[in-house]
Formats: sequence, structure tokens, C-alpha cells
Amino acid sequence: MRVSLNTQIFLGALTGIALGLLFAGLGPESSSAKQGIYLCGLVGGVFIDMLKMVLAPLIFTSIAVGVANLRVHSQLHKVWISTLGFFVLSMALAIVLGLSAANLFEPGKGLNLDLFHNATQGFAAKQMTFAEFIAGFLHSLFVNPFTALAQSNVLAIVVFAMLLGIALVVGGERYRNILALMQEGLELMLRLVGWIMHLAPIGIMALLAQLLATQNLALLSSLAKFVAVIIGTTLLHGFVVLPLLLFLVTRVSPLRFFRGSREALLTAFATSSSSATLPVTLRCVEQHLHVKPGIAGFVIPLGATINMDGTALYEASAALFVANLAGIELDLAQQLIVFFTTMMAAIGAPGIPSAGMVTMVMVLQSVGLPAEAVAILLPIDRLLDTVRTMVNVEGDMVGSLVVQTWVEPDNA
Ligand code: ASP
Repeated sequence: MRVSLNTQIFLGALTGIALGLLFAGLGPESSSAKQGIYLCGLVGGVFIDMLKMVLAPLIFTSIAVGVANLRVHSQLHKVWISTLGFFVLSMALAIVLGLSAANLFEPGKGLNLDLFHNATQGFAAKQMTFAEFIAGFLHSLFVNPFTALAQSNVLAIVVFAMLLGIALVVGGERYRNILALMQEGLELMLRLVGWIMHLAPIGIMALLAQLLATQNLALLSSLAKFVAVIIGTTLLHGFVVLPLLLFLVTRVSPLRFFRGSREALLTAFATSSSSATLPVTLRCVEQHLHVKPGIAGFVIPLGATINMDGTALYEASAALFVANLAGIELDLAQQLIVFFTTMMAAIGAPGIPSAGMVTMVMVLQSVGLPAEAVAILLPIDRLLDTVRTMVNVEGDMVGSLVVQTWVEPDNA
């Protein structure tokens, strides 16, 4: 009997969780646990390396070909507007949800302040003003394409490939051969992704085992309420809000969506990186959810860097948590500032593990909260990053289906 890849990945994830709990049970001194964790780190790391290996050529070809395939100018315009519109809408919903949950449950209130002082002492957070952040973001858009490709700088590759795609459309027949070459390059990369995915069950197993075995349980339990609020609201967004939005616009049932997207969701959960997951995300929407390559090739790579619902929700809630912890009350106007800076911070966060923690400094500073508070959240971030990256990637996949319906209501 042949077990499907999806089932293998699912079994791999379960085995990883069991193994991680076993290592944690053996204790940090046990040499078998140490060896096991080391081996898992190695195997999981190699799996992520493989995904990153195909990342740069994959997004480069998928965006260029995607944009070039949207031949008609008005269609390009429509895709562009719908994509940005959807990204802003879904992130706004996520932030409102995050702020509402934090106002309702007030995590951090009444928590032992020593924890705050101990953790923040000696931790110098890099200061980042809003203006610096915007300037840095603008500078990161236009980079020498060879540097961008060599460094797997997703945002810069997206921008260059988009311009190239537009030039291919405008040039038309003249660049027929280059377009054909890129198309074949894209197919070739997707073939490699298919091979790498055969290793996903083992890679995901190793990553989850290592993650569970290396958690700081004492800190986790003292921040249990915050962790529960964050995970609960993020899952609410991922399992209720996004599927509802998807159903209302496209009539695609949540069941069909989750069946088609689970490879990417599990990979995102285990790697905590939207960028590393990108090859899998693209494969899921094109092959399982039947989004046209022209739309998927544009929405998914762009979404992996700027559309982050999970991160937006997290940063907004975490800002209120820090305020509670520091005994500062944020009024409505200040929460509105949090809303806007969070949106920018989520857009600016690259799709790598714990990137959201770096851009969160800006959100905290925008309302005068101590940026050093990031130090409390860092040790538990790897755990929270799993769920928020999963929802980040889910948002991109939902986005590609929604944009397809908005752009081609008759063919979607
Ligand atoms: N790890 C997240 C991602 O890759 C970003 C974050 O840290 O919030 O999507």
C-alpha cells in the first residue's frame, strides 16, 4: 500500500512531537537526549537548506513568468490592486482581532514584575524610529539582482523580477525566447521542489522534535496566559476568519482549502519561515488548489514577504501585553498608533524565524513602551513563531484564491 505524502508528513509531525517530548522527559543532562537533539537539529537544518537552495531561482522565475503571463495590461493592474487590497484587509482584521483579545483578556496584568526587570536588565534593544524603518525598507527594495539572488533577498528579487516581467510583457514577441527559457526554468525548479518534498516527513519530524525538546518550560508556564491568548486568537484567525473570507469571496469550502494547503501549513509550522516554505506554498496553490500560475507566481512570493497576518496579530497583542506588564494603560488613540505601526512592522518583517521580534521594537517605541521588553518574549518566541508563520502562509494562499476570483470572476 502506498501512503500519500500528506499522510507521511502528518505521521512525521506526530512522531516528531512524541520524540521531542521523550527528549524533554529524559532531561537536559541525558546524553541520549543530547545526541538525539543534535541529530534532529542537523537533519532539520539540512531540510531547510534544501528549500532555501531552490528559493531564489524559484521566486525569480515565478514572478517574472507570472507577471509576463498577465499579458493584458488592465489585468496586471487589477492583480496588483486586488493583491495589495487583500493583504491590507486581512492584516487589518488580524490586528483588530489581536487588539480585541488583548483588551478582553488583559494578559500581563498582575504578573510578577521581577520577571520583567530581570529579563530586560542588560538587554539593549536596537533603537529603530519609524522614519529609519521606512528609509531602510525603501532602500531594501532596489538591489543589484545578482546580490539579491546570491543572498536570497526575497523582497529585492520580487521587485527586480516584477520589473523584468513587465518589460517582457511590453517587449512582447521580441523577448519570446527569454520568456520561454524562464518558463522552463520555473518548471525545472518546481520539479526539484517535488523531490525535496519527499524528504519533508523526515525534515518536519526532526524540526518538531528539536523544537519541543528545547523549550524553556518554566518561563512558558509563567507566561501561560499570554501564550494561550496569542495561540488561541491566531488559530481563530487561521481557522475561522480566513476560511470565512475565502468562502464568502470564492465559495471554496474550508475543507477543500485545508486539504490542498496542508503540506505548506505543516512546513511553515515546522520551519517558522515563510521564505523557506515558499517553494511548498507555490506548489500547493498551483497543483492542489488550481490557482493559475500567472496569479500564484505573483501573489505568493510577494505575500511571503509582506503579507503576515499572524505576525501582525502577534505584534499588536504583544504590545498590549508589554503595556500591561509595565503598568502602562494605552488609550484608544495610542492603540490606533499601534494598529498602524504594527501593519508596517508586519509588512517590513522578512519571512524568517523570529523576524517579527525585531520589527516589534518599532511598535513598542511608537507608544513609548520599553523596547527591552522584547527580551522577555524572545525565549518563548520559537514556539509562538510556529503558529504565526503557519497563519502568515495560510493568508498568502487564501489571498491567491481570492485575487483569482476578483480578477477573473467567470473563470475562477
Ligand atoms: N517567522 C515569521 C515568518 O516567516 C515572521 C515572524 O517572525 O513573525 O513568516
